[in-house]
Amino acid sequence: MGHNLTTLLPIATFLFIEIKSIMNKAKTGLEAINQKQLETWVLLAKNRINFGRLPQYIPILSEANPGWLAVSIQTVSGQICTGGNVDLKFPLMSAIKPFVLFNLLCELGEDAVFKTVGIEPTEKPYNSLIQLEEDKGWPRNPTLNSGAIALASILPGSSAIEKCEQLRLWLNKQANCQLSLDELMLTSVKSLPNQRNRTIASILAESGYIKNWEIALDTYERICCLSANIVDLANLGILLVKPPGPGWQEYALIVKALMSTCGLYEASARYAVKIGIPCKSGVSGVMLGVVPGEGAIACYSPPLDKEGNSVGGLFLLELMSRELKLSVFN
Ligand code: GLN
Repeated sequence: MGHNLTTLLPIATFLFIEIKSIMNKAKTGLEAINQKQLETWVLLAKNRINFGRLPQYIPILSEANPGWLAVSIQTVSGQICTGGNVDLKFPLMSAIKPFVLFNLLCELGEDAVFKTVGIEPTEKPYNSLIQLEEDKGWPRNPTLNSGAIALASILPGSSAIEKCEQLRLWLNKQANCQLSLDELMLTSVKSLPNQRNRTIASILAESGYIKNWEIALDTYERICCLSANIVDLANLGILLVKPPGPGWQEYALIVKALMSTCGLYEASARYAVKIGIPCKSGVSGVMLGVVPGEGAIACYSPPLDKEGNSVGGLFLLELMSRELKLSVFN
């Protein structure tokens, strides 16, 4: 046995470095998340949400408990981790928009969709009339109210009820979730008529991008009231990571790209740098992050920042992206 310290030391050092790098690798990526870690992060997020405000223009949303917070993380391999108030159900609001786009791309194809809506981002709010007027009535992307109302008008079905129901059933089947229409929320949405959305819909009709603005607006209001729990929301995210139909990967790519350029309204570019994950928020406090190839992060926390994004949701996505190295730009 001729081994001495001088021959063993380099081998031991090499092994130590290798093992350390393997362990470090295992700590990044969505798979690395564990229940205990998630619970700690939920507590941190709960301390942040008092910086946000509840929206006032939909009565039921203004009565939400600002302390609610739920998270669900699902990986492509099927691992699920949840934290916070996981039993809550909430309306998807604007978080339905990428899924209307995905449904229509899969069902009608790219030509029909991009005849109706553009792919350009904007620095103006999601319901800006100035933007729509500047664009001469052309809805510039599917995450704006104009774009979503235009897409709602081409959903298959002859009435708003039928259009919404077809979308609901399709999503439930393809994403293995249980979305339901929240009738109380819908009544609440309609109780204070949204003059801005009415104007958007009528401009779209005048400029010839939709046929019947009343049906289009009614459909839009209904699909915004499709409700989910936090696990359903993560399932929807997985639909864009692992789409089940042939050729759908290409459509999911379009949807994810638009989520990164437009998903967080006028704050999208800032969060592409800070988070680097395709995201979509909704005025109810929904925040969905889709990590390509890895899985989905679903958050729900009602207080919003000035741009209308969930404060708790943004905090969690930023934290997870940094700690788990999730940015697609890594
Ligand atoms: N129904 C809402 C609206 O049109 C959805 C908007 C949102 O979630 N940002 O105002």
